[in-house]
Amino acid sequence: MFLTISTTGSAERPATDLGFLLHKHPEKAQAFSTSYGTAHVLYPEADAERCTAALLLEVDAVALVRRGKGKGRGGAPDAALAQYVNDRPYAASSLLAVALSAVFSSAMRGVCTARPQLPAQPRPLRIEVPALPARGGPGLVRSLFEPLGWTVTAEPVPLDGEFPQWGDSRYIQLVLDADTLTLAEALRHLYVLLPVLDDAKHYWVSPDEVDKLLRAGEGWLPGHPEQRLITSRYLSRRWSLTRQAMERLELVRLAETDDTAVEDIDNAVEAEAEQEEKPTPLAVQRREAILAALRASGAARVLDLGCGQGQLVQQLLKDPAFTEIVGVDVSMRALTIASRRLKLDRMGERQSARVNLRQGSLAYTDKRLGGYDAAVLSEVIEHLDLPRLPALEYAVFGAARPRTVLVTTPNVEYNVRWESLPAGRVRHGDHRFEWTREEFRAWAEKVAEEYGYGVGFVPVGPDDPEVGPPTQMAVFQADTPKEAKAA
Ligand code: SAH
Repeated sequence: MFLTISTTGSAERPATDLGFLLHKHPEKAQAFSTSYGTAHVLYPEADAERCTAALLLEVDAVALVRRGKGKGRGGAPDAALAQYVNDRPYAASSLLAVALSAVFSSAMRGVCTARPQLPAQPRPLRIEVPALPARGGPGLVRSLFEPLGWTVTAEPVPLDGEFPQWGDSRYIQLVLDADTLTLAEALRHLYVLLPVLDDAKHYWVSPDEVDKLLRAGEGWLPGHPEQRLITSRYLSRRWSLTRQAMERLELVRLAETDDTAVEDIDNAVEAEAEQEEKPTPLAVQRREAILAALRASGAARVLDLGCGQGQLVQQLLKDPAFTEIVGVDVSMRALTIASRRLKLDRMGERQSARVNLRQGSLAYTDKRLGGYDAAVLSEVIEHLDLPRLPALEYAVFGAARPRTVLVTTPNVEYNVRWESLPAGRVRHGDHRFEWTREEFRAWAEKVAEEYGYGVGFVPVGPDDPEVGPPTQMAVFQADTPKEAKAA
């Protein structure tokens, strides 16, 4: 795995200043141990006209697996062999980004004690990465680097030079040139964008990744046309983190241009909605399945429990068959976004009489939830700690007791089919558990039995012959009073 940084110079501004900037002497080859292996820094050429520093990372595949172990919550144990046999040791990737920041941390911060004036001066730079995994291909590489002032040459690497019919691999050979950037800026671009292109982070994304991203992105990420994609990929598609970062970026941008504040917030809400749906049209399929089941049940008055940002409520409002819709969520923030999405403040009286958003926890019985035709719990149960689940079961099936209850939750068996989900990881950072089809069925049947409901199961999304669908839905129908075992 390797990358070179080159610069040119003259007698007055020698190229070998690169050694001062990187804090690594051009005449010595040096090795540094990092958590994933050994990083070597050496200079294939170093004179006043041209100087090139190479960073070579020797990845320790075994250490990589050990570090990754046991960091996810719940889910299946890691598949053994794929962990050791992969492209990590060969391709430049997020590991290289980690090595960059470890080996060149002062340079990245623009600190040079020996020549304090150097870091602020832009100089001609060329970065070369011979094999870079790039999801999104050369087009995406250009749209990430060009807005930052780089001239980009990105050639796809063929799978096998002798067999051109095999086509291109997912690797590209990357050359970046610029003469308007400082070395610190260049390093910070690479630190963020290499993992973005790799799009398969090797370690657990912790909340402080948001800080790292914002620090490295200072001065260039706010306002980058691909800001949203960069943020969400960098944070490995963890929506709660992405949202946090987007919000903070948004604040940076608002501080810079404050006159369009209100419009910007509206746009941010829209952007957020788009961002949620783009990689998972599954969310759309899920709402369609829920709508179909609600229509089939003949429900008119509906509870959306754990309504989140109100996407389902918005769908329900479009169908006059639903005469009353109540969205409940524990998160005030989600409800604020929901009310903006629904434009509650600008809604006519007839419409606004049909909808009501309120804050509440499903772990507590709430008398106001009694007497409805149907309740939806879409992707909610997995957000509760298992010991809290019986309280929700009682509040919904025992106390509120709508005739129909729809519950959707991820099918953990399907996780192996998500390309971007490392083995053994849950789909969302806040999921307390994810169930197999068998586990979900057992839970649903137990609840149905306990509270006097019948239950059936509906797959949502492509129903894989081996692992089932990505989302599973249970449809509960209350027994008629005669048959009821518990009321
Ligand atoms: N139903 C939406 C949102 C799912 S995300 C959808 O399908 O897209 C899960 C939601 O459940 C979040 O908005 C979270 O705030 C909410 N939630 C989690 N625990 C809750 C609780 N105890 N009571 C009410 N809402 C809860």
